[in-house]
Amino acid sequence: MSQRRKFLQTSLAGALAVLWQRKSLAAVVKEKQQGTKDPVVISTWDFGKAANAEAWKILVAGGDVIDALEKGAHVPEADPNNQTVGYGGFPDRDGKVTLDACIMDGALNCGSVAALEHIMHPISVAKLVMQKTPHVMLVGEGALQFALANGFKKQNLLTPASEKAWKEWLKTSKYEPVINIENKAWQGDKKKLPGGPYNHDTIGLLGIDSTGKMGGACTTSGAAWKMRGRVGDSPIIGAGLYVDGEVGAATSSGLGEEVIRTCGSHTVVELMRQGFDPEAACRKAVERIVNRDPERAKKLQVGFLALDKAGNYGAFAIHKGFTYSVKNGREEKVLEAKSYFS
Ligand code: ASP
Repeated sequence: MSQRRKFLQTSLAGALAVLWQRKSLAAVVKEKQQGTKDPVVISTWDFGKAANAEAWKILVAGGDVIDALEKGAHVPEADPNNQTVGYGGFPDRDGKVTLDACIMDGALNCGSVAALEHIMHPISVAKLVMQKTPHVMLVGEGALQFALANGFKKQNLLTPASEKAWKEWLKTSKYEPVINIENKAWQGDKKKLPGGPYNHDTIGLLGIDSTGKMGGACTTSGAAWKMRGRVGDSPIIGAGLYVDGEVGAATSSGLGEEVIRTCGSHTVVELMRQGFDPEAACRKAVERIVNRDPERAKKLQVGFLALDKAGNYGAFAIHKGFTYSVKNGREEKVLEAKSYFS
């Protein structure tokens, strides 16, 4: 090979390498710039996967995170086979389906409804409380009145299957939490469980849209066979859900009373503010519940799920069996959280 040809070949290879390097450098810079703006949605439990898919349609089209999470939450709310959220939810001990929900964005705007009856989509009523009223929370009759005034329709939310389960429960009226019964009930396994179908399970969704805006939504029928008027953690800002766009977001599922007394989701967000990653923050919040009474904690379940503002996520629960669903531009999966007791 002539020296000249060799020189030309080497120069060409060198130029191409430089070009390639430039391109990859540009790609890296672009990726970095977009780092906090890649949309993501995560949610509690395996049934969160279908909710995430619905939310994703809006996120991937550049839509607002609050609209996306609302639409995602509608999926389990409208599903009669999901007996822990919305339509078809297990009733209280008087046979009434009462729903709790809240929604929040990273600028601390929030809205909530509790003990709302006859409305299939409490998350949308919570969104309107946030957008249209000077208040954060409406409950019971007042929440219903507000919903009806805003065009929501009254519906019977007690399905024949949930009514049957309630009548079955009435025979013993036994009221004790059974760990992860919610997940097993969802898988059609509840007949095998001791103590009858005591069922609690909430969907909490956390997300970031393509502008980097963070949000969270939480909706549930609460603890099955609860006392009339009982409100759990799910509609309580700081307990079942908390979002601060400067840090991240957190939500919970499980025995709401334990989450309320520890301000669970707020605690998780504050721990992330101190530098803990999402999983470590969830673990510390779980430990706060367990350390209060370790013996008692053996018999109850709480799981936390968290998302930081960069899109990192993590979860932790008292017991095994707490699952969560993740959807972003790279992955769509259901994961099981690590737990305090194995
Ligand atoms: N946290 C809800 C409540 O206590 C129920 C659940 O998530 O299982 O109302």
